[in-house]
Amino acid sequence: MAYLGNPKNTIEVLQKYNFNFQKKFGQNFLIDTGILEEIIDSAGITKDDMILEIGPGIGTMTQYLCESARQVIAVEIDTNLIPILKDTLSEYDNVKVINDDILKVDINALAEEYNNGKPIKVVANLPYYITTPIIMGLFESHVPIDSITIMVQKEVADRMQAAPGKKDYGALSLAVQYYSHPEIVVNVPPSCFMPQPKVGSSVISLKRYEKPVVDVEDEKLMFKIIRASFNQRRKTLANGLNNFGGMGLTKEQIQQSIEALGVPVNVRGEALSLAQFAQLSNIIGAAK
Ligand code: SAM
Repeated sequence: MAYLGNPKNTIEVLQKYNFNFQKKFGQNFLIDTGILEEIIDSAGITKDDMILEIGPGIGTMTQYLCESARQVIAVEIDTNLIPILKDTLSEYDNVKVINDDILKVDINALAEEYNNGKPIKVVANLPYYITTPIIMGLFESHVPIDSITIMVQKEVADRMQAAPGKKDYGALSLAVQYYSHPEIVVNVPPSCFMPQPKVGSSVISLKRYEKPVVDVEDEKLMFKIIRASFNQRRKTLANGLNNFGGMGLTKEQIQQSIEALGVPVNVRGEALSLAQFAQLSNIIGAAK
């Protein structure tokens, strides 16, 4: 089977199987060899690695992954793609295709079975409609992960990488940056896909931290405070927290907690760094 990462070979496979794209699954297949090579390079794959690929499509990136990794596990929701993958990946004996919804798969069990529980690498051209649940699910469920290299909507990649005070900075930036170091690898125009999406895309690399980079006593409380702060962007941090039930504190206690952080009492949430949110949650947790 020839490599698929170009329009001619992709069309040939699609026609052979009379494949119809399903919009509800976010199907936009990569047809650019240069971008495929950039993804593989930036993922830093070695022959020791187990790779989890989410949504292999017709197997375009899977072929590259099979050549550079020890074992590839590819999870694809669309049953119509399974016979195609059997064909396009027939030359590789180090790939297992699972026909399921990634949000329902026990990834811990896969890492245990195929990688002795050691950290795995996730590489994917993600279905954009479930980008955030997939990424947060991977981080929060304590799956052993070394890195996540993914194609996402450009706007989402910008939000993941944004720093305090920037317009894209928000709850997603803080969640991603709590668990990992994000770095945009390359921006990808719609012309690199078939069919072309309406939005621009970016490949982003998220290198998981081995140890937390901030000192937080109650992770859940910190994320509750973060959500409350960005829920009403135009409001001050104090008003945001009060309108969200005050985290169990009175208005005065909230003000005192913000002052104890050493920032003006009328500060907006978008000005606080991850370290400051961590510190604020420790102060609020102790005052409760
Ligand atoms: N990796 C291929 C490529 O780069 O050409 C396809 C990428 S396409 C953007 C996203 C793929 O994810 C599609 O094949 C789609 O069917 C699949 N998909 C969508 N939702 C999924 C889910 N919940 N679980 C697993 N796969 C899913």
